[in-house]
Amino acid sequence: MGKRDRVRLAAGMLLSVSAVCTVLLTLCAGGNAAAVFAAREAAVQQTASPAPQGPLAGLVIAVDAGHGGYDGGAVGRVSGVPEKGLNLDVAQRLQKLLSGLGARVIMTRTDDYALCDEDPPIRKKLQDMQRRARLIVDGGADVVLSIHMNEYAGRAQSGPQVFYREGCPAGRLLAGAVQESMNGALTPKKERTALSGDYYILTLGMPSVLVECGFLSNREEEALLLTGDYRQKVAEAVARGVVAWQSLAAPKPEPLPAVDRSDEPQGD
Ligand SMILES: [Zn+2]
Repeated sequence: MGKRDRVRLAAGMLLSVSAVCTVLLTLCAGGNAAAVFAAREAAVQQTASPAPQGPLAGLVIAVDAGHGGYDGGAVGRVSGVPEKGLNLDVAQRLQKLLSGLGARVIMTRTDDYALCDEDPPIRKKLQDMQRRARLIVDGGADVVLSIHMNEYAGRAQSGPQVFYREGCPAGRLLAGAVQESMNGALTPKKERTALSGDYYILTLGMPSVLVECGFLSNREEEALLLTGDYRQKVAEAVARGVVAWQSLAAPKPEPLPAVDRSDEPQGD
């Protein structure tokens, strides 16, 4: 794991994210150049028709299905199913729910592909993240929800875990609302609290959370996550968390500004 892959956990708490589940910079193989353009087109299409009113009316929400294509992410310990497809399914369910609640939704991907070229001039994972970031920023997103599945070396760990950008009170508030909603709806054995994490997708300048829906390394939770009914419950819990956050009466803190990445190699 590189420097950016490290997740800084409050008070030395459990390290709950594995190397394969990182959203960050790794050197990998595979990809699909044409998919990038399909993704941009799809993202525009997805934003067309939110419900005219609802608790999230006026809000632009980016839903980011983690991994895709060559990058499968975490793998079910029993089933061998990679998280990328589960992430996309939850993201698409979330898209429907959030649109129904009035939000305009931007999807960073809509099928099984990475957003990098076959042979990019820079690292594939970096290009993939840069292109996700561009879709989110160019789309005018007010909020980012990045969807993932967790894993851990031991099999005992379970429960949804929400991350926010370290030092960002705006992200922390959103993460707390989503975590609380997930704990309430999914009744995990272990109720976790939202934690700060060092993830690229959380550093774009708006309230952002990375949702680890559950542990694919835990037999019981893997079995749940493989069912559409449970993934629907997950999506509904996340959506309710966003509504709870949006409904807060007190003024929300300003998010930290976007991280300046102008010194990074560009993929285009
Ligand atoms: Zn992941």
